[in-house]
Amino acid sequence: VPKIVTPGLSLPEKTLAMIKPDAVQSNYTSMIRQIIVSEGFHILEEKLAHLDDVAAKSFYKEHAERSFFPSLIRFMTSGPVYAMILEREGAIKKWRTLMGPTDSNKARVQAPDSIRAKFGIDGEKNSVHGSDSTEAAIREIATFFRDFQESNMDSSRRVHEEL
Ligand code: GDP
Ligand code: MG
Repeated sequence: VPKIVTPGLSLPEKTLAMIKPDAVQSNYTSMIRQIIVSEGFHILEEKLAHLDDVAAKSFYKEHAERSFFPSLIRFMTSGPVYAMILEREGAIKKWRTLMGPTDSNKARVQAPDSIRAKFGIDGEKNSVHGSDSTEAAIREIATFFRDFQESNMDSSRRVHEEL
């Protein structure tokens, strides 16, 4: 069966990017935002928000049994975050590549140009988050931007906007 290829046409994909409390606190938001735009992502929606305990636990529920979970939740609720819906071809994978490895200290060795290498502190305070799958992107976008698409995720009602 011949593969149909349409040159120049690639499907846009959406992902949820978040600048975490360490980087917002250090005033890196506009620098990170600039890198994102210069790498060809379109920012469809963006907002400053503050995760409460319930929202943070729901956002990271896949890690609920990990030993670092209480510390992660304390960190993620410690101050405002900056959430963005990014769009481009291959957005999910490309944003994760631009972020770099989870541990910022490893990132400085393995991917020195990555955002986590440049702006993160350690294995927890690593400056940015990115969805790791289509399903995660849908769920995480709904968490912050409940009106952006139909969603019945109840976690979507638990983020308090901070103006
Ligand atoms: P990510 O998808 O690259 O963000 O990494 P994970 O999904 O594995 O972990 C989610 C978040 O939990 C990370 O971004 C870190 O903030 C934090 N985290 C992951 N592993 C560790 C760890 O071993 N120790 C601590 N303290 N935090 C961690
Ligand atoms: Mg993850």
